[in-house]
Amino acid sequence: TSMRYGIFGAEPWSEEMRQTLEQTFNLQALDIYGLSEIMGPGVAMECQEQAGLHIMDDLFITEVVDPVTGEPLPDGMVGELVFTSLKKKTLPIIRYRTGDLASITHKVCACGRTTTRMSRVKGRTDDMLIIRGVNVFPSEIERVLLQQPDVTPHYQIHLVRKAGLDAVELHIEFENISERQMRSICDAIKSECLISIDLVCHPNQGLPRSEGKAVRVVDRRSTSLV
Ligand SMILES: [Zn+2]
Repeated sequence: TSMRYGIFGAEPWSEEMRQTLEQTFNLQALDIYGLSEIMGPGVAMECQEQAGLHIMDDLFITEVVDPVTGEPLPDGMVGELVFTSLKKKTLPIIRYRTGDLASITHKVCACGRTTTRMSRVKGRTDDMLIIRGVNVFPSEIERVLLQQPDVTPHYQIHLVRKAGLDAVELHIEFENISERQMRSICDAIKSECLISIDLVCHPNQGLPRSEGKAVRVVDRRSTSLV
């Protein structure tokens, strides 16, 4: 076709997906961001440099805050996006917490535009677990786990209470796992996610399968023996 640009949004998509779209349709694939509470799509969009999404600074004040403390974070650090609308008249939006995690920069883009730019959305605050003060995303545990040899993508993260403190049990399917393999999984998660886990191994098919969205996190903290 003669299409030169495609604008893709409404769901998070990856750089791998960008390559597929660009090669398949012979166009430049650009990311767009928005949320219905504020104005729908068009809060921010990539330019042809594909180096972050330009935020419409004439319409919004943008901040990134620590999702736990609410404190503003410096440029480049990932936190929760917060918008204040400057133009809305009937529904003022003041420091609206989006739940979306991204970083922002105020550096001038190679395209010449000077607006604030945001990174791709990296996740949602709703997904974040807080274990003894450490923020952890299930997706991060999955990434580290699946880098380990012979591990299948069937796992569950159980949050429990042990001796009055939050603890994490990682349930995986792994028959005849060796002591060395167990240690290596625990060490990798400790060093990359900064949390200690107890590994619980099940035989193949030992973990429940879900029909729709997989249940990855089971919170047993209120029912665990303290
Ligand atoms: Zn630009």
